[in-house]
Amino acid sequence: MLATYISHDLCKQHLMPEHHPECPARIDVIDNQLMASGIDGLLLQQQAKPATDEQILQVHTKEHLQRLNQSLPAQGIVSFDNDVYLSPNTLTAARYAAGASVLGVDLVMQAKTNVVFCNVRPPGHHAEKNRAMGFCLLNNIAIAASYALNHYGLNRIAILDFDVHHGNGTQDIFLGDERVLFCSSFQYPFYPGTPIDDMPAHILNVPLKAGCRSESFREAIQGWWPALAAHKPQLIFISAGFDAFIDDDMSSVQLVEQDYFWISQKIRAYMDESKKFPEPKQCKGIISSLEGGYDLPSLGRCVVQHIKGMAKL
Ligand SMILES: [Zn+2]
Repeated sequence: MLATYISHDLCKQHLMPEHHPECPARIDVIDNQLMASGIDGLLLQQQAKPATDEQILQVHTKEHLQRLNQSLPAQGIVSFDNDVYLSPNTLTAARYAAGASVLGVDLVMQAKTNVVFCNVRPPGHHAEKNRAMGFCLLNNIAIAASYALNHYGLNRIAILDFDVHHGNGTQDIFLGDERVLFCSSFQYPFYPGTPIDDMPAHILNVPLKAGCRSESFREAIQGWWPALAAHKPQLIFISAGFDAFIDDDMSSVQLVEQDYFWISQKIRAYMDESKKFPEPKQCKGIISSLEGGYDLPSLGRCVVQHIKGMAKL
């Protein structure tokens, strides 16, 4: 079964102030590296569709969506809130970014693919139910996970987040929902600084020290694998941020390309292993969506390693 690559040019229409790291070129460097590595021909390529209001409102409040709609500028770029900027097409880009993972859910549930990577922006994991923050407006992965729960009636989902920042938005959305196992690794203390202690058992926060390297990272997240095995997710979602990479100025964690291959093939190995369980406990697919990752020369290479690990290429 071919792995699937989903993107859309409209994701480049969300504009940020000049020299901002969360820039449209991030989409292009990933596209280009997929071609340079030769794996683009091994992937099913799909255009994202926009997430609908109904899908967005499964996780965000009506007020949040209205506020975004009403704040869009007719031209130029305006500051919105907490490191979030709006340009005329920002909400369109955000709808496509969320809709990409929703399409990923459909393709997996229709057994057309079992591994999906969404090359999209703006990112999503900092967006809470009622708040945009940290470059994020809509929580892409949460919208797709809710779609899987509600539309397909699934009852066990896992979201793994290896972005260098805590996925506070995803935690906010699923804090009271035991159907969703949420595992997040992140530099700590660090942005966004949300409280991470005293969490219920389905929220697994893994703080990493500044300067953390491959070995410490791999050891720190070793609790993820038994947690997956115990939860038996029917789908695994990944908030795939690459800002823990050693050359990324956004953090002091020092992961290397091989770490992204390692974690991705571990997740894939869990899915393969789950096939020996009775059908309702099997993992049908992995849907990964781009979060952070701001070092343009290395971002594409990290993503290629991620896709190779997930898709066994
Ligand atoms: Zn990040």
